[in-house]
Amino acid sequence: MKIKAELKEISSGVYALIQHRGEWFVNNAGLIVGENFSIVVDSLANEKRARNFIQKIEEVTKKPIRFLINTHGHGDHVWTNHMFKAIAICHENCREDTMNAFPEIYSSLFPDFDFSGAKITPQEITFNEKMKIHCDDMAIELLHFATAHTTGDIAVYLPKKKIVFCGDLLFSKPCTPFAMFGSISGSIEALKKLYDLDADIYVPGHGNVAGKEEILESIEYFRFVQRGAKKTFEKGMDLYEAIKSVELDKYLNWFEAERIAGNLARAYSEITGQSFDVLEVTRLMFELAKKLNSGEQLQS
Ligand SMILES: [Zn+2]
Repeated sequence: MKIKAELKEISSGVYALIQHRGEWFVNNAGLIVGENFSIVVDSLANEKRARNFIQKIEEVTKKPIRFLINTHGHGDHVWTNHMFKAIAICHENCREDTMNAFPEIYSSLFPDFDFSGAKITPQEITFNEKMKIHCDDMAIELLHFATAHTTGDIAVYLPKKKIVFCGDLLFSKPCTPFAMFGSISGSIEALKKLYDLDADIYVPGHGNVAGKEEILESIEYFRFVQRGAKKTFEKGMDLYEAIKSVELDKYLNWFEAERIAGNLARAYSEITGQSFDVLEVTRLMFELAKKLNSGEQLQS
């Protein structure tokens, strides 16, 4: 599949790289250009996409990339850190996630994805709650939200521009949110805090550039997942039965709607306090994807 990527200027000197429609491993990224240096938010899943991103950066600025901020440790956001030749910054838990991943396992699990050049490059600087980078007269705030999409998420907030790079704390409609590796209730809390920031433009980790309305949509989706988990739990179903009988309602036509399987697993574990088999849930999720793509009726 050819991935369309567009570097959009969302404010003077601030850009969002929007990749296609936010499929699995097809993430967005960012670029902030200052007088003396530029800052990149997130790398991409493979070298080809990273090269394309760097080419687009060079078309808009010749300033060296001094810092690379990683919003969290998932492969699509960190596996081409080495291509940007910059000091990489992230949350402490994001660095742990980065170091504990194995791109080669993903290549065998997802043979259709192109992970060429994916590499583990640990970040040089980590922090816990909050840090600031000063770019000319503009403060860039790195804010930690836990536990939400992962345990190491940060948002990159530019108060002066009223812009937030949200990483995967936000997937914008109709791109289906995903919190299998984090927390559903924590995601709702993080989204509420993002909503409360004095900002107008929210760049999601996947999907199109958004505003406050998409944050509310995302909260509503996670509440739908919570209600679905509660309903099936109260019927006495176990998680795996619940996934097989999932109802998507209006979210059926959202992109990558199968993410509901992972979300449901996380919501279930928040009700029962029990962990789940990630590999089995992932298998069921892609089984659901096949059903959805073939247009087969979901069992209700
Ligand atoms: Zn992610």
